[in-house]
Amino acid sequence: MKRRQFFMGSALALASTASPLFLRKLADASPQQKAARLPIMPTCPTDGEAIKLINAQMSRIAGVHACTRPFRHAGPRIEAELLGSKLVVHNYGHGGSGWSLSWGSSMQALRMAQAATPGLRTLGVIGCGPLGLTSALLAQHAGLSVRIYAKALPPNVSSMGATGLWSPDSRFCDLQHEADWAARWNEMARTSFDKYQQTAGLPGRLVEWFNGYKLSDTPFPVKDLYGSPPQTKDEDEPEYARFANDFLPPQIDLLPGGHPFPTRYARCCTSLMFNITPYASKLVADFLAAGGKVDIRAFNHPNELLTLPECTFINATGYGAKALFNDETVIPVRGQTVRLMPQPEVIHGLRAEQFLVMPRRDGLIVQNMDETGNFNNSNDAPDLVEAKAILEQAATFIARIG
Ligand SMILES: Cc1cc2nc3c(=O)[nH]c(=O)nc-3n(C[C@H](O)[C@H](O)[C@H](O)COP(=O)(O)OP(=O)(O)OC[C@H]3O[C@@H](n4cnc5c(N)ncnc54)[C@H](O)[C@@H]3O)c2cc1C
Repeated sequence: MKRRQFFMGSALALASTASPLFLRKLADASPQQKAARLPIMPTCPTDGEAIKLINAQMSRIAGVHACTRPFRHAGPRIEAELLGSKLVVHNYGHGGSGWSLSWGSSMQALRMAQAATPGLRTLGVIGCGPLGLTSALLAQHAGLSVRIYAKALPPNVSSMGATGLWSPDSRFCDLQHEADWAARWNEMARTSFDKYQQTAGLPGRLVEWFNGYKLSDTPFPVKDLYGSPPQTKDEDEPEYARFANDFLPPQIDLLPGGHPFPTRYARCCTSLMFNITPYASKLVADFLAAGGKVDIRAFNHPNELLTLPECTFINATGYGAKALFNDETVIPVRGQTVRLMPQPEVIHGLRAEQFLVMPRRDGLIVQNMDETGNFNNSNDAPDLVEAKAILEQAATFIARIG
C-alpha cells in the first residue's frame, strides 16, 4: 500500500471513531450552518513532503513583532461604568484570545450599551484593534452611527503581531475564575466561531481552515490543541482556565512508525487561522464603507471623553486601558512572532520542540511557544537573537523530515 494511501486509510478510521462531540454539534446545527461547515473540513493527514516546503531560513525574515497580551486574572473587563454624564462600556483585557473572541465579546459589550441607553443612536468606540473594530461593526449592523477614536489604526496596533490562531481560551482568565466565566465564555466563543464560518471562504482568504501537525517524542495529553500553551510557566504565572474548546474537528493521532516525521508521536489538528493583515484591513474598509468615522487621537485621562459629542462609548483600548483607566489588574504578557515572506504553497502548520509555524498567507509566522520571562513583562521591543534562535530550530527540525 502506498504511504499516502495508508495515511488516508488510518486517518479515516481514527477520525470516524474519535469525533462524537463534533459530529453531534454538526447534527445540532441548523441546516444553514451544516451547509456552511461541512465542505470546509480539510482532509487530514498529509505526508511529510508538504511540511518540508516550509522555508525557515534567516533570509526569509520579513519582520519581527513583539507585543503584550492584556491579561487579567479575573478575565476581560466587559462591564458598564458611568463617567459623569457619559456611559462607558469596557471591552478589554482578553489575554491571548482577543482575535478569537472579538465578535462574541463585542456583542456582549454592545448589548450592555444598548440596554443601558434605550434608543441609542450614536456610539463612540475607543480603540481600533480587533475589539474596537468588531464593536464598531456590530453597532453599525444594529443601525447605530459610529465614530472610532484611536491613537493608532491597523496595521499600527499591537494586535497585528499576534499569531492568528483560533485560541479562544488562551490566557483568558485564571483557573479560580473559570467557573464564573464558563457560560459567558461559551456564548462569546460560539458567537465568534459562527461569525468566522461566515468569513472563511470569502475572497481574500481572510479566515481559513488549516491542518497543523504536532510532533513529539513523548505522548500527547488526551486533548491537546495545535497551539496549546507550554507547560513551562513563569513563577508568578497562574494556572489558566481551560474551557471546552470543542469547536474544532477531532484530532487525529498517526500511528508511531507509520508516519514520515522524525518523532515517535504525530498528531494532526485542524483549526482556524486569521490572515491578520487582509482581515484587519477588510474590517476597517467595511467600517468606513458603512459610513463610519475615524478620529485619530490619544487620550491621557478618561475625563477627556466628557468633551466628545457621543454620550455612550465602548472602551476597547486593550493593554492601553491599564494606563488610561488606571487598571492595575491588567498584566502584560509579552510575546513575539517572526514573520517570514509568504509561501502560498505552504498550507500546513507545524508544532514541534519549542516552535510553532502558522501557514499564514500574509507571511508564515514562527513563534517560540516555550519562552519564559514573559509574564508581567511589558517590553515590546523585538528580540532578534531569540528570533534567529527559534528560526534555526525550526529549519533544523524541518531538514530532518524524511
Ligand atoms: C504574541 C501574541 C500572539 C497572539 N496570538 C493570538 C492568536 O493567535 N489568537 C488570538 O485570538 N489572540 C492572540 N493574541 C492576543 C490578541 O492579540 C489580544 O488579545 C488582542 O490584541 C487584544 O486586542 P484589542 O483590540 O483589545 O487591543 P489592541 O489591538 O492593542 O488595540 C487597542 C486600540 O486602542 C488604542 N488605544 C490604546 N490606548 C489608547 C489611548 N490612550 N488613547 C487612544 N487610543 C488608545 C490603540 O491605538 C488601538 O487602536 C496574541 C497576542 C500576542 C502578544
